[in-house]
Amino acid sequence: MTDQTSQAARTACGAIRAGDQGKAVELCGWVNRRRDHGGLIFVDLRDREGIAQIVFDPKHPSFPDAERLRNEDVLRVRGTVRARPQGTENAKLPTGGVEIGVDDLEVLNRSEVPPFPVNGDDDVDENLRLEYRYLDLRRPRMQRNIATRHRIVKAMRDFFDARDFLEIETPMLIKSTPEGARDYLVPSRIHPGTFYALPQSPQLLKQILMIAGFGRYMQIARCMRDEDLRADRQPEFTQVDVEMSFCTQEDVLETMESCMRDVWKRVLGVELGPFPRFSHAQVLERFGSDKPDLRYDLELVNVTSIFEGSDFVVFKSVIESRGAIVGLRYPGGASLSRRDFDALTELAKQNGAKGMVWIALGADGVKSSAQKFVGDEHIGALRYSLDAETGDAILLFADARPAALTVAGRMRGEVAERCGLRDKTKYAFCWVTDFPYLELDEATGRPAPAHHPFTAPGEGQWEFIDSDPLAMRAQHYDLVLNGFELGSGSIRNHKPEHQRRIFEMLGMTPEQIEERFGFFVRALEYGAPPHGGMALGIDRIVMLACGEDDLREVVAFPKNQAARDVMMDSPSAVAENLLRDLSLRSTAPPPER
Ligand code: ASP
Repeated sequence: MTDQTSQAARTACGAIRAGDQGKAVELCGWVNRRRDHGGLIFVDLRDREGIAQIVFDPKHPSFPDAERLRNEDVLRVRGTVRARPQGTENAKLPTGGVEIGVDDLEVLNRSEVPPFPVNGDDDVDENLRLEYRYLDLRRPRMQRNIATRHRIVKAMRDFFDARDFLEIETPMLIKSTPEGARDYLVPSRIHPGTFYALPQSPQLLKQILMIAGFGRYMQIARCMRDEDLRADRQPEFTQVDVEMSFCTQEDVLETMESCMRDVWKRVLGVELGPFPRFSHAQVLERFGSDKPDLRYDLELVNVTSIFEGSDFVVFKSVIESRGAIVGLRYPGGASLSRRDFDALTELAKQNGAKGMVWIALGADGVKSSAQKFVGDEHIGALRYSLDAETGDAILLFADARPAALTVAGRMRGEVAERCGLRDKTKYAFCWVTDFPYLELDEATGRPAPAHHPFTAPGEGQWEFIDSDPLAMRAQHYDLVLNGFELGSGSIRNHKPEHQRRIFEMLGMTPEQIEERFGFFVRALEYGAPPHGGMALGIDRIVMLACGEDDLREVVAFPKNQAARDVMMDSPSAVAENLLRDLSLRSTAPPPER
């Protein structure tokens, strides 16, 4: 009960229970559904907490008004809680044992007919949902997801507060902090021709907070990255951003793992076991991905040695060029038809395979796309190394080692999906550590930091910086859940000479270092403590905790597939004079409508 008004206490619709019988209550909410039945009018009145059934008697003066009620009208109702007549209870609703006999009805506002039903979770076109987001958010699933999001963020804040972290806000108008994406820029009116960058992350500022002596920082931080959209990416997103001084990698891992364990227990009532740890090299070898889905096993196996001496030209040439043949078990896959296998081969090609050899271990014999070249000795060894049984299929991918592993890793996900192994109620976390310092940037083809340039090389790795920088390992770690990267972190370069050396390795001249990061290197020169940290994506965490497949289901006001806010109609053109004030002129053609 909340908010005492006149005679009756205002009560949440969904909070009324059998024990409230005889109580005078006041309810406010939206008409979820109206039913005219046996001379009586029943209205399901909805608020955030749930639904209450209110009943209008034909003899009551409010009856004619009740007859005109439509879905989504907003009401205030006063009445008395009573038991529903025997046989009319609704066991599915927590309020299903009682109803409210209406004494007084006030229609606070009318609603237009909504463009889609609000009283259920039916599939609705995404753009329509986003255009009328206020109605979409009224629906039960979105109400649940947004409330879960609140509880997750609250649990995180409580966790870090209990461990003496300070939540410190960092500004939105800053200078570029590289996280591998484009910056969103904000033109300065006062300083014509110059721009602020919106933060891709608070990385440099949180490191400066360590230099400033705060020791333990956290922030529920908004980040903006101008990247192409995907279902698991939005141009702006929220991270739980963390930094600690005088810490080791182990300290950061322990902190973040405990936080996740705490959140899962408090919010979902799920006890998580210790998170397994793998090196980057291990996950690639065993799962063909740096974000492995560990809800199922289906480990990849390098079966190259089984085909040593094979006459099969594909295998022969791969072995000669020191490539690899990678095997994947497909549980129950022997029942697939030739045509199914052809389709699967096509899919493997779309995923980058040069080809795929399949072997079906049927009860009535073995069939294969390379029948002539797969003998009993191969089958026996494959069965053994892949733990395959009669009824399974085996898929083989031959290529240069990294390419074969990557394709097999992608097909591992496909096989798991087909076998129903991607169980949304399972939560398989894991750590990936010992990343290479550099990786080839797909866009430029040049080496770039696998994390960001503030990351410290691993122990003993400085010696490779001149001779073989691509071989350098970093003190960089990722947390992965069900095949999604939740976030990354690292131990940082706290010595200014080390930070400069990394910038130089990345090809920056002293002038460029000064121009972009001079302020930061200078800060490192004034007694920067050793420090490290991590950031986890809250949107992804909530998405997986809610069993959703799309970030838009857990963000109140997301952008659509084309990075537009279709409710507000943003981005949109602005008046000429506003551009003039900013010393800007648009060279783009006028936007199409
Ligand atoms: N700033 C990094 C990121 O957004 C996280 C970190 O290194 O702490 O991925």
